[in-house]
Amino acid sequence: MSKVVIIGGGISGLAVAEAVERRAAAAGIELRTVVLEKEPRLGGKLRSIAEEGYLCEWGPNGFLDSKPLTLELCRRIGLENRLLRSNDWARRRFVYSEGKLHQLPQGALSFFGSRLISWPGKLRLALELLIPPRRDGEDETLADFARRRLGAEALEKLIGPMVSGVFAGDPEAMSLQSSFPRIHQLEQDYGGLIRALFKLQKKRRAEHRAGQSVAGPSGPGGKLTSFEQGIEELIPELAENLRGEIRRGARAVAVSKRGGGYRVQLEDGAAVEAEAVISACPAYAASAVTAALDGELSRLLAEIPYAPLWVVCFGYQRGKLPRSPEGFGFLAARGAGRSVLGTLWDSSIFPHRAPEGHVLLRSMLGGATRPEVIALSEVEVQQRVRADLQTVMGITAAPDFIRLYPHPQAIPQYRTGHARRLAALEQRLGSCPGFFLTGNAFFGVGINDCVRAANEVGERVVEFFSKRG
Ligand SMILES: Cc1cc2nc3c(=O)[nH]c(=O)nc-3n(C[C@H](O)[C@H](O)[C@H](O)COP(=O)(O)OP(=O)(O)OC[C@H]3O[C@@H](n4cnc5c(N)ncnc54)[C@H](O)[C@@H]3O)c2cc1C
Repeated sequence: MSKVVIIGGGISGLAVAEAVERRAAAAGIELRTVVLEKEPRLGGKLRSIAEEGYLCEWGPNGFLDSKPLTLELCRRIGLENRLLRSNDWARRRFVYSEGKLHQLPQGALSFFGSRLISWPGKLRLALELLIPPRRDGEDETLADFARRRLGAEALEKLIGPMVSGVFAGDPEAMSLQSSFPRIHQLEQDYGGLIRALFKLQKKRRAEHRAGQSVAGPSGPGGKLTSFEQGIEELIPELAENLRGEIRRGARAVAVSKRGGGYRVQLEDGAAVEAEAVISACPAYAASAVTAALDGELSRLLAEIPYAPLWVVCFGYQRGKLPRSPEGFGFLAARGAGRSVLGTLWDSSIFPHRAPEGHVLLRSMLGGATRPEVIALSEVEVQQRVRADLQTVMGITAAPDFIRLYPHPQAIPQYRTGHARRLAALEQRLGSCPGFFLTGNAFFGVGINDCVRAANEVGERVVEFFSKRG
């Protein structure tokens, strides 16, 4: 029976193993998957830590239900009845700017009533309607795109926080095309964002009337979705559903060609041979394991940078806060002078995140704009978070519960030139038939993006075996 080795047991590795097994079974091809995970636990960034009645997410706290593939995966592995949707008030999102928390407007009318953007800033935004689309195909930073179409204030208060919230990224360096391809496409297809907004709203209304709505169960924006015990609940079921082998504590150190296939060398001296290999680990780790296989492939992978992050959980008795936080949380505007990129009000987003009568706030610090923060001590990080929560939310009380999680390489950054690098990687892969790349370093960092990429790679792997016969 042919074998496929998967390096990495995070959501990407487990989802690609599931996709390969499912598609191979459908095609009548016998394949055996072997997942290699260097840590004793599976899940990678998906890790939910329950302590003292709090449930702290080490990394992601959910996925949006507006895209179908993660939901479908949950259905296939029998988790559908355990899905937990975010509370309704989690739609209330805030931006901290000019000394105040401003609720992000949800529609055009509330936008004009909001004080987040000044009147000159609103006027500049409205002028977006008159700005011709740029169609020269050149990669552009998010900051340049925002200044060109929306104005400098929208960059500070809307685009900057959005980039922090998804990538912990720097809009001056990130590629619009690669990081937010949907926004790029809207400019290409409709000539501008406001035009796109109106036309899409009209289309959705028409689809809704005709009963053909294709949005997920919670509409086009989607709802953050997790499980009662946290996002990690996805992992054991996914692993148990696999028919192949999972080796924990198995770090791959090198991949080399062997006969018609590959040999994956492990740190402990053992090796696994297989007809195909899928790298589902971070790009820097994939770079290390491919150094001997293809120097250029390895070099290109090493060029994808990662931003560091501190995740800081503070728990409080509700009565000690000046106001009960009800909403998703806040992101800080660029130039708001805060250390935190933002704070998620986790116990307001989902139930079961804090003991009765308590709240859990999860702050993020660092990112691509302040990478040096990762070198601070835990005491300094706590001090910064406390100072910011006092300024932004008026919290003077000391937290009753504190957990800090450092991520030296948290999130890959799709800088300008990312698409060119992906094309070069694709070309190098041409000389390594049977070697595939997946994970969050290429086509999106959300859990939904990882599951989509895993499905696409799963299809290509099975196609590879069916062509081999
Ligand atoms: C703080 C934070 C918050 C986030 N919030 C959200 C969110 O709310 N929603 C969302 O959708 N996304 C969020 N994300 C992004 C999302 O969590 C990640 O993009 C996704 O989990 C990445 O999954 P992965 O499997 O590709 O990589 P990883 O989770 O990094 O998994 C890779 C695995 O490979 C293993 N590995 C590495 N090297 C080797 C080797 N040599 N041999 C064997 N195994 C190896 C690692 O141990 C790891 O288990 C967040 C990320 C972070 C850091």
